[in-house]
Amino acid sequence: MGCLRQRVSDSGTHDHDTLLVSVHDGQQGAITVEAGLVRSRGAILLLGTPEHRHDSRLQAETLKLTNDLSVMMREFAQKNRELKEANETIDRLARTDALTGLANRRTLDETMQREIARARRLAEPLSLIIADLDHFKSINDRFGHTSGDHVLASVAAVFATQSRPYDLAARYGGEEFVLLLPGTSTPDAIAVAGRIRQKVAEVKVPECPREITISLGVATWMTGEAAEGLVARADAALYRAKTTGRNRVEAASAVPV
Ligand code: GH3
Ligand code: MG
Ligand code: MG
Repeated sequence: MGCLRQRVSDSGTHDHDTLLVSVHDGQQGAITVEAGLVRSRGAILLLGTPEHRHDSRLQAETLKLTNDLSVMMREFAQKNRELKEANETIDRLARTDALTGLANRRTLDETMQREIARARRLAEPLSLIIADLDHFKSINDRFGHTSGDHVLASVAAVFATQSRPYDLAARYGGEEFVLLLPGTSTPDAIAVAGRIRQKVAEVKVPECPREITISLGVATWMTGEAAEGLVARADAALYRAKTTGRNRVEAASAVPV
């Protein structure tokens, strides 16, 4: 039976695979017979060789083994499904920010590398928005950290709803967000940033009875630029948005910082 288990769990088992099976009924000695091992729609069939066709004892034992094997196969399949689901959950959690449900920094870093390679290959624009909540520390100080968390989650929802399926909205840090926009030129990215700015100003969080605003910096990838360079230029634009009054969008110049 041990050999049989191994053969059944071996994914290389093919139709018409044959093996020797020891069968015994407890009264007589074991008889070794040659049996065919056949996979059929997820089940395993164990077929005795024709010369044992009329041996009812063998037939009964073979039938029992066949049933056992089918149960085993179903269990294997179920365990494999559970393992696959568990792995998918672990993978999703490792890529997601727990508070906001947006992509985390790791996912953003990986996606930026991939999208920069793609922009280079297809000669398509790639823009990035980096955004930072205004005076967020005072929201925490005044209404408490939990209210601050609710504000972060509500603002994250704006980023999620304003992004297209092939964009990536990520939580970059504490109260900083990034939206990566493949195939998007600077004017279009500025328009997206403007929409986000407006939607964030409309966010209402019951525990935070105060207008929530956000400042945003936009940059578009320049040929040969590394991910860090793109982020640095968007960040410099964000800094300008902060120093020129907040609740604004600024775009980076096409000059490395
Ligand atoms: P500015 O307009 O210049 O951006 O001012 P600010 O107060 O938003 O900037 P600052 O960097 O001084 O404050 C950021 C605050 O964000 C400080 C930190 O306590 C808070 N913060 C970071 N992560 C979290 C978080 O996960 N939850 C909450 N509630 N607060 C957070
Ligand atoms: Mg900040
Ligand atoms: Mg801030």
